[in-house]
Amino acid sequence: MIKLFSSLTELKGVGPEFAERLKKLEIETIRDLLWHFPFRYDDFSKISKIADLKINTIATISGVISDIKVRRSWKRKMFIIEALINDDSGSIKAIWFNQRFLLAILKKGCMLNLAGKVAEAPKGGLIFSHPSYEIISAVFRKENQETKHTGRLVPIYPETKKVTSKALRFLIKPALDNLEKLIDSIPLSVLKKYKFPEINKALKNIHFPKNLEEALIAKKRFAFEDLFFLQLVNLHQRLELSREKAYKFDISDKCVEDLLNKIPFELTASQKKSLWEILKDFKNPRPMNRLLQGDVGSGKTIVAALAALLIAKKNKQSAFMAPTEVLANQHYQTFKKFFKDFTEGIALLTSSESKIFYGDGLETEIKKTELFKKISRNDIKIIIGTHALISVRQSKSQNIVFNDLALVIVDEQHRFGVRQRAKLKDYSPNYLPHFLSMSATPIPRTLSLTLFGDLDFSIINELPVGRKGIITKVVAPENRDKAYAFIRGQVKKGRQVFVVCPRIEKEELEEGKILTQRDVLKLETKNVKEEYEKLSKKVFPDLRVDMLHGKLKTKEKSEVMEKFKKREIDILVSTSVIEVGVDIPNATIMMIESAEMFGLAQLYQFRGRVGRGEHQSFCFLFTDFFSKTVYQRLQAILKAKNGFELAEKDLAIRGPGEFLGGQKIAQTGMPDLAMKAAQNPELVKISRKAAEDLLEKDPDLENHLQLKKRLGFFERKTHLE
Ligand code: ADP
Ligand code: MG
Repeated sequence: MIKLFSSLTELKGVGPEFAERLKKLEIETIRDLLWHFPFRYDDFSKISKIADLKINTIATISGVISDIKVRRSWKRKMFIIEALINDDSGSIKAIWFNQRFLLAILKKGCMLNLAGKVAEAPKGGLIFSHPSYEIISAVFRKENQETKHTGRLVPIYPETKKVTSKALRFLIKPALDNLEKLIDSIPLSVLKKYKFPEINKALKNIHFPKNLEEALIAKKRFAFEDLFFLQLVNLHQRLELSREKAYKFDISDKCVEDLLNKIPFELTASQKKSLWEILKDFKNPRPMNRLLQGDVGSGKTIVAALAALLIAKKNKQSAFMAPTEVLANQHYQTFKKFFKDFTEGIALLTSSESKIFYGDGLETEIKKTELFKKISRNDIKIIIGTHALISVRQSKSQNIVFNDLALVIVDEQHRFGVRQRAKLKDYSPNYLPHFLSMSATPIPRTLSLTLFGDLDFSIINELPVGRKGIITKVVAPENRDKAYAFIRGQVKKGRQVFVVCPRIEKEELEEGKILTQRDVLKLETKNVKEEYEKLSKKVFPDLRVDMLHGKLKTKEKSEVMEKFKKREIDILVSTSVIEVGVDIPNATIMMIESAEMFGLAQLYQFRGRVGRGEHQSFCFLFTDFFSKTVYQRLQAILKAKNGFELAEKDLAIRGPGEFLGGQKIAQTGMPDLAMKAAQNPELVKISRKAAEDLLEKDPDLENHLQLKKRLGFFERKTHLE
């Protein structure tokens, strides 16, 4: 009997060395192995007569080896195994290259199935080149032996070096046949309702289906299962949060108006609506958990700032966290600029700075330990910093203790991680703060319902009036010089330029590696260091060029950003580190190299870095790979009205695996199958309904301990962003 969490080495044929190879596919337990699903099936289900075979078709035959020999091709220095197979209708040749071990397996007189593509032999006649084979013993054959590799729908898996689909089938088939009865994490009633196969059967059907329909239903079941589970996570978090207490604030209209009067512009309608939604949440003694979404430059910061100020008026504290020091500083400046007469204390606390602003130009540097004291005495109402503000536990004397933390704002993040939230409980055990996160990464609605189903959304879907559109162009390689000339002209007029590259430095590939198309792409991908060299020495030797990337120290990064802000740099070459939130109105040109390497949503964000000032801004998308898909994708940017629309397109063109820049999947903890399924509104709907029904009956999953355990594990492990 095989148990789900047994070690792989309990399977016949898996030694330590093979187990190592499986690790490359992230297969470490029997469960991983069984959840390594095929991505397609080859149809070898019909056994043909040799006499009926046709060139260029896929077929399975069943016969006897009448001859087998090995030949050496001197020209190509290869061993060629040649076998002749007969059935009662005729014979066909099969060849394999460089697989001498086959001689030990395939012997004259052996009965076997062969499956693969039928080709024309060089000297005429038909031939199987590298067919799949399976030895059939005469006894079993009569009893209808179940085959793995031939004579059926054969599963094809994601493979890696030295782990072929065939090897995987070898392991999976017996593991399935001897598998213990698993506990189904989908409740029986739900299985029945949607006619999904129970778990053991579903596993069998997804790996070794009798027909395609069976495979598809099994696949749908697993997709549903993942979605259902994610919905449970979401709803469960909602439930947990609704059991917590939070400060309740009734904020008067007058109070809001007074503050709004201090800002030199009128809020857009959707800014007002968002603020109103936040204030409405404050009226509730349960913690708010809200995501404020809006394009870059749509004015999220000011909305969050207003919320924090209104809470300060109620004598409670807010923490305002940004992903980088540069951004934390920028937020601090925003407060200083718009709320000059705010005297309740605003602090900036990062690893390199700690200072307080008390209104009317009163600003002082302060020792961190002093600042901590003031914070713990509620002398400071708004504390601005990076995420380290709460997530890094500093030494004891360095520990930040809030006096009365009522609101936590996180910028450029989708949600507040479970662990971070747990941390906050240390700070205020009785009252959990309200949470507000902000994100400029637009997520299509179908996806966000699944990914962020625990959050409430506020959406700013318009830009402040009077912004000039950004002129955007896809630049073909032959027009590069023209673009450079244009850029020079703009710099001469006093403007500044961002150049974004996908990489920091050149990709190093193993020596002697045979390059795949992907590798070539990587090699050709523009990188910051080389572009910096080229631009500063060859193209613009007379201009001030500098670079910024993730390998620089935090302090160096801030220095470069400061210099750019002070206009001491004309052209800044960087990686996506400038992706989030930076506000430099004098920068009017965004030039993106190897644009095809970025996600659309990401490109859209880069473009949002410019167009913030009074001057006309431009965005140039450079690409050396002018394929149809690349062109289509980049074209979409030109046409998009807002980020959400683009996100939908991105998802449609590239599929969910690549969505969010390709790298975020692991972080979201969202299985690929669920990602795909999350686009299916019907499946999302029924999974949510099923999760709601379950939690209604069994809110703490006391009758579904398996699920409860998995939920706890998931919540601890993944930090959903
Ligand atoms: P986001 O964080 O959404 O990218 P910001 O809050 O940084 O955007 O706003 C971008 C710029 O627009 C800031 O300089 C801000 O002061 C300004 N701004 C915000 N709201 C408005 C508005 N309603 N009218 C005019 N300017 C605004
Ligand atoms: Mg911002």
